[in-house]
Amino acid sequence: MRLSVSNIRDYFWCPRSLWLKANGIKTPNVNYSVGRQFHALIHGVTNTIFSVYKQQLPGKIVDMEVTLSTGDLIGRIDILRLVEQDGERIYIIQDEKFKDPPKIGRVYAEDKVQIDAYAYLAEQNGYKPVSGLILYNDLIPREVKPAPERIPEIIKRIKSVLSSQNLPPIELSERDKYRNSHDPREKCQYCYYYSLCQILPPRGGITMREILSLRFLKGTQALKEQLTKTLEEVLE
Ligand code: SF4
Repeated sequence: MRLSVSNIRDYFWCPRSLWLKANGIKTPNVNYSVGRQFHALIHGVTNTIFSVYKQQLPGKIVDMEVTLSTGDLIGRIDILRLVEQDGERIYIIQDEKFKDPPKIGRVYAEDKVQIDAYAYLAEQNGYKPVSGLILYNDLIPREVKPAPERIPEIIKRIKSVLSSQNLPPIELSERDKYRNSHDPREKCQYCYYYSLCQILPPRGGITMREILSLRFLKGTQALKEQLTKTLEEVLE
């Protein structure tokens, strides 16, 4: 099984959301029909500002939008840039231009692990030494020290989640631990699966087949309607 770097991000956010997505529960498309032109305009302007800005960073570009892989991981790196002050160093530039910087810590846990995963891919493909830069919408480059050595263990844990037939329990995720949060549900309000998770057992342990059969659950008409509506929103 070869994972993608976005699997690692999803796992950091919540192993349960990773499992639901991998088992075919779709995430809704964001509806841009309201204010679509305005959104496209802002999107275009932001893209232009960032592409000019990224050209101004020191060092020369080695590669842009490069896809690297190993036997167990694949990912597309935004920019690899070679900087030669104090010896050569490859910088992985991670573009998070549509995100506000975090209120807690310098960078988000999911963004840091993404740099770690890219560094793992870069090192396995002969680029060394590697540093990371994350760009949020405040245009301040945040340098991070990659830890590619943690990736093989994370890959193992993700494979164990994905190979399970059972829905994982709601537990503190890596993102929660990084933020020192003691409530694994604190992030649920921002999650695509919020309404579905409301009707699934917090302890997990049920299969996809059982989740699908919730549609046929006996109960009041109102409950059946709510279940059907929730499941229709997320199932293909
Ligand atoms: S709603 Fe909460 S528990 Fe459920 S998948 Fe999303 S983050 Fe995880």
